[in-house]
Amino acid sequence: MTDTHSLNSWPQPYRLPDAEPYWSALSENRLTFQHCNECAQAVWPAHSFCTHCGSRSLDWRQSSGRGSVWSYSTIMRGPTPVWAAIVPYTVGFIQMDEGYFLFSQIDADPDAIAIGQRVEVRFVQRGEQKLPLFVPCDR
Ligand SMILES: [Zn+2]
Repeated sequence: MTDTHSLNSWPQPYRLPDAEPYWSALSENRLTFQHCNECAQAVWPAHSFCTHCGSRSLDWRQSSGRGSVWSYSTIMRGPTPVWAAIVPYTVGFIQMDEGYFLFSQIDADPDAIAIGQRVEVRFVQRGEQKLPLFVPCDR
């Protein structure tokens, strides 16, 4: 696998204002999500109101960083040179233990990934932004 830290042209995420606490926490190796104080549901992606009950009483909580693979796809042809340099790579939705879904890269042998596989977060620097990335675990 290519040393991704040496690639300095990673496309950067579009940072919506509602999600700024999420991006800031990532820079400190913390994975966070919104939580509704009215209905106690996780709210993700970040919003200015709860997508379950409409309340505007939201706060940010730290995630356990663990979840299960809900779906995934292994990319064999990268869409840009920076992605082409690391093929094959796998992306997918992680069903986080807090009940929300997070789309992320899964860093594992594609043949070893399965629906339901337990994974936990790691953090990787991609250009100027640190991003979550998931690896298989037994917990
Ligand atoms: Zn709510």
